[in-house]
Amino acid sequence: MATNGEENQSLRHQEVGHKSLLQTDALYQYILETSVYPREPESMKELREVTAKHPWNIMTTSADEGQFLNMLLKLINAKNTMEIGVYTGYSLLATALALPDDGKILAMDINRENFELGLPSIEKAGVAHKIDFREGPALPVLDQMIEDGKYHGSFDFIFVDADKDNYLNYHKRLIELVKVGGVIGYDNTLWNGSVVAPPDAPMRKYVRYYRDFVLELNKALAADPRIEICMLPVGDGITVCRRIS
Ligand code: SAM
Ligand code: CA
Repeated sequence: MATNGEENQSLRHQEVGHKSLLQTDALYQYILETSVYPREPESMKELREVTAKHPWNIMTTSADEGQFLNMLLKLINAKNTMEIGVYTGYSLLATALALPDDGKILAMDINRENFELGLPSIEKAGVAHKIDFREGPALPVLDQMIEDGKYHGSFDFIFVDADKDNYLNYHKRLIELVKVGGVIGYDNTLWNGSVVAPPDAPMRKYVRYYRDFVLELNKALAADPRIEICMLPVGDGITVCRRIS
């Protein structure tokens, strides 16, 4: 039962009509212009501008999320990392810049061409040597690493930003590969806001197709006793999972 204090709190929430601070596009612009763009490394700005001209630019990680990832990686002292879903490499560069000089990123994507669009900016930043890019589907690589045995519990951080219908398949494997105390970030877990849309709401075809997979993932992560989780409304939603057993 709610205490008086909790009741007052929930009344206050009703008065302001929302439970999140981010009410407007203007507020988001304020974050970008006040705290993100002024601190964005030149190489990331360049990569962001190259990506903006690409027809699939909607897929890119936003600048505020890039800044968040970069900060998170430094906070956890990440050294050995993995990224599934690279596209032109904005989150990859945010990661590479956060790692020590001998840090590593195993980066996987089925499309090398897009990675190569961003590669000159990554090279200019002097961090390309940290990246081991593998072209192809990620799942067989993960299976190989599990079978091999020597990669178990070896990753400090893993960012998953690829085919949403495979996230649960990834999770089954990644939970073995990330170290206890390490972090997996699942991206787009609010899936365009569609996670709370009524089933008959108008939705783009791809949003509708992946929605059930995202809903299933969110339930499974919340119920998984091997991790602690925190779902943040950054970008399109990122669920940060810390392996505890
Ligand atoms: N993290 C990227 C960034 O910061 O710009 C965005 C990634 S984008 C949303 C998703 C990427 O996942 C695409 O580049 C796509 O080619 C890749 N992808 C799709 N299926 C994949 C799979 N089975 N294995 C690896 N990558 C895949
Ligand atoms: Ca994403």
